Amino acid sequence: MKLYRIKKSKIDNKGRGLYATKDIKEGTKIINYTGKIITNKEVDRSDKYDNGKPIYLFTLNNKYTLDGDFPWNTAGLINHSCDPNSQYDGKGLKIWITAIKNIKKGEEFTCDYGFSFDKDYRQFPCKCGAKNCCGYIVREESRWRINKKFAMSNKKRLIKNSR
Ligand SMILES: [Zn+2]
Repeated sequence: MKLYRIKKSKIDNKGRGLYATKDIKEGTKIINYTGKIITNKEVDRSDKYDNGKPIYLFTLNNKYTLDGDFPWNTAGLINHSCDPNSQYDGKGLKIWITAIKNIKKGEEFTCDYGFSFDKDYRQFPCKCGAKNCCGYIVREESRWRINKKFAMSNKKRLIKNSR
Protein backbone atom coordinates (compact mmCIF):
# COMPACT_ATOMS: atom_id res chain seq x y z
CA MET A 1 0.00 0.00 0.00
CA LYS A 2 1.24 3.45 -0.85
CA LEU A 3 1.81 5.75 2.11
CA TYR A 4 0.32 8.72 0.28
CA ARG A 5 -2.61 9.71 -1.80
CA ILE A 6 -3.18 12.78 -3.95
CA LYS A 7 -5.89 15.16 -2.81
CA LYS A 8 -6.80 18.81 -3.13
CA SER A 9 -4.43 20.64 -0.80
CA LYS A 10 -5.50 22.46 2.33
CA ILE A 11 -2.45 24.70 2.06
CA ASP A 12 -2.40 25.46 -1.65
CA ASN A 13 -6.00 26.30 -2.55
CA LYS A 14 -5.45 25.92 -6.24
CA GLY A 15 -3.24 22.90 -6.09
CA ARG A 16 -3.00 19.39 -4.89
CA GLY A 17 -1.04 17.82 -2.09
CA LEU A 18 -0.06 14.43 -0.76
CA TYR A 19 -1.84 12.97 2.25
CA ALA A 20 -0.92 10.12 4.57
CA THR A 21 -2.97 6.96 4.00
CA LYS A 22 -2.05 5.62 7.45
CA ASP A 23 -0.17 6.58 10.59
CA ILE A 24 3.50 7.01 9.75
CA LYS A 25 6.47 6.90 12.13
CA GLU A 26 9.20 9.50 12.15
CA GLY A 27 12.04 8.43 9.88
CA THR A 28 9.85 6.56 7.39
CA LYS A 29 10.67 6.98 3.73
CA ILE A 30 7.46 8.17 2.06
CA ILE A 31 8.10 8.59 -1.64
CA ASN A 32 10.95 8.99 -4.10
CA TYR A 33 11.48 12.41 -5.60
CA THR A 34 11.98 11.61 -9.26
CA GLY A 35 13.07 13.70 -12.19
CA LYS A 36 15.76 14.18 -14.71
CA ILE A 37 19.43 14.40 -13.83
CA ILE A 38 21.04 17.33 -15.56
CA THR A 39 24.44 18.90 -15.24
CA ASN A 40 24.89 22.04 -13.21
CA LYS A 41 26.15 23.66 -16.39
CA GLU A 42 22.80 22.99 -18.04
CA VAL A 43 21.06 24.72 -15.15
CA ASP A 44 23.26 27.76 -15.69
CA ARG A 45 22.63 27.79 -19.41
CA SER A 46 18.92 26.99 -19.69
CA ASP A 47 16.20 29.65 -19.83
CA LYS A 48 13.89 27.27 -18.00
CA TYR A 49 15.66 28.01 -14.74
CA ASP A 50 15.98 31.74 -15.21
CA ASN A 51 12.67 32.84 -13.80
CA GLY A 52 11.23 32.25 -10.41
CA LYS A 53 12.60 29.99 -7.77
CA PRO A 54 14.19 26.68 -8.59
CA ILE A 55 11.77 24.85 -6.35
CA TYR A 56 12.10 21.61 -8.26
CA LEU A 57 15.86 21.72 -8.49
CA PHE A 58 18.12 19.84 -6.14
CA THR A 59 21.87 20.15 -6.43
CA LEU A 60 23.12 16.57 -6.03
CA ASN A 61 26.83 17.31 -6.07
CA ASN A 62 29.25 19.68 -7.74
CA LYS A 63 28.37 18.23 -11.13
CA TYR A 64 24.74 17.20 -11.19
CA THR A 65 21.31 18.60 -10.37
CA LEU A 66 17.97 16.81 -10.21
CA ASP A 67 15.16 18.60 -12.00
CA GLY A 68 11.85 17.34 -10.60
CA ASP A 69 9.63 19.60 -12.68
CA PHE A 70 7.74 16.78 -14.41
CA PRO A 71 4.09 15.72 -14.11
CA TRP A 72 5.15 12.19 -13.16
CA ASN A 73 7.11 13.39 -10.17
CA THR A 74 4.30 12.89 -7.64
CA ALA A 75 6.54 14.07 -4.79
CA GLY A 76 6.64 17.47 -6.48
CA LEU A 77 3.06 17.98 -5.25
CA ILE A 78 4.20 18.20 -1.64
CA ASN A 79 3.61 21.71 -0.35
CA HIS A 80 5.83 23.93 1.75
CA SER A 81 5.16 24.51 5.42
CA CYS A 82 7.00 26.65 7.97
CA ASP A 83 6.45 23.74 10.37
CA PRO A 84 6.95 20.74 8.08
CA ASN A 85 6.41 17.10 8.98
CA SER A 86 8.77 15.78 6.28
CA GLN A 87 12.04 16.62 4.61
CA TYR A 88 14.00 16.00 1.43
CA ASP A 89 16.64 13.36 1.93
CA GLY A 90 19.20 12.07 -0.47
CA LYS A 91 22.17 9.88 -1.16
CA GLY A 92 24.20 9.76 -4.33
CA LEU A 93 21.89 10.72 -7.16
CA LYS A 94 18.67 9.75 -5.35
CA ILE A 95 16.28 11.99 -3.46
CA TRP A 96 13.28 10.98 -1.40
CA ILE A 97 10.94 12.35 1.22
CA THR A 98 11.34 11.23 4.85
CA ALA A 99 8.92 11.84 7.73
CA ILE A 100 10.59 13.99 10.41
CA LYS A 101 7.66 13.62 12.81
CA ASN A 102 5.08 10.97 13.54
CA ILE A 103 2.37 11.70 11.00
CA LYS A 104 -1.28 10.77 11.46
CA LYS A 105 -3.44 9.21 8.79
CA GLY A 106 -5.09 11.96 6.76
CA GLU A 107 -2.43 14.61 7.43
CA GLU A 108 -0.93 16.48 4.51
CA PHE A 109 2.78 15.92 3.95
CA THR A 110 4.81 19.13 4.02
CA CYS A 111 8.46 20.04 3.54
CA ASP A 112 10.57 23.16 3.93
CA TYR A 113 11.24 24.29 0.35
CA GLY A 114 14.45 25.90 1.50
CA PHE A 115 14.09 29.10 -0.51
CA SER A 116 16.79 31.56 0.28
CA PHE A 117 15.83 35.04 1.34
CA ASP A 118 16.10 37.60 -1.45
CA LYS A 119 14.30 40.59 -2.88
CA ASP A 120 11.67 38.39 -4.52
CA TYR A 121 10.41 36.72 -1.37
CA ARG A 122 7.07 38.52 -1.57
CA GLN A 123 6.24 36.57 -4.74
CA PHE A 124 5.86 33.45 -2.67
CA PRO A 125 3.36 33.95 0.11
CA CYS A 126 2.91 31.03 2.49
CA LYS A 127 -0.49 29.92 3.70
CA CYS A 128 0.63 26.88 5.65
CA GLY A 129 -1.27 27.97 8.76
CA ALA A 130 1.50 26.92 11.15
CA LYS A 131 1.86 28.94 14.36
CA ASN A 132 5.36 29.97 13.34
CA CYS A 133 4.40 30.85 9.74
CA CYS A 134 6.35 33.90 8.63
CA GLY A 135 3.92 34.57 5.75
CA TYR A 136 6.35 33.73 2.99
CA ILE A 137 8.06 30.65 1.65
CA VAL A 138 11.57 31.11 2.95
CA ARG A 139 13.92 28.55 4.44
CA GLU A 140 13.95 28.28 8.20
CA GLU A 141 17.42 29.75 8.68
CA SER A 142 16.41 32.91 6.81
CA ARG A 143 12.99 33.55 8.33
CA TRP A 144 14.36 35.81 11.03
CA ARG A 145 15.05 38.34 8.30
CA ILE A 146 11.38 38.51 7.55
CA ASN A 147 10.35 38.46 11.17
CA LYS A 148 12.78 41.26 11.84
CA LYS A 149 11.24 43.18 8.98
CA PHE A 150 7.78 42.62 10.37
CA ALA A 151 8.99 43.70 13.78
CA MET A 152 10.40 46.91 12.31
CA SER A 153 7.28 47.86 10.41
CA ASN A 154 5.16 47.16 13.50
CA LYS A 155 7.37 49.47 15.50
CA LYS A 156 6.97 52.23 12.96
CA ARG A 157 3.23 51.77 13.03
CA LEU A 158 3.22 52.00 16.80
CA ILE A 159 5.22 55.21 16.76
CA LYS A 160 2.87 56.67 14.20
CA ASN A 161 -0.18 55.70 16.23
CA SER A 162 1.16 57.16 19.42
CA ARG A 163 1.59 60.60 17.93
ZN1 LIG B 1 4.09 29.19 6.41
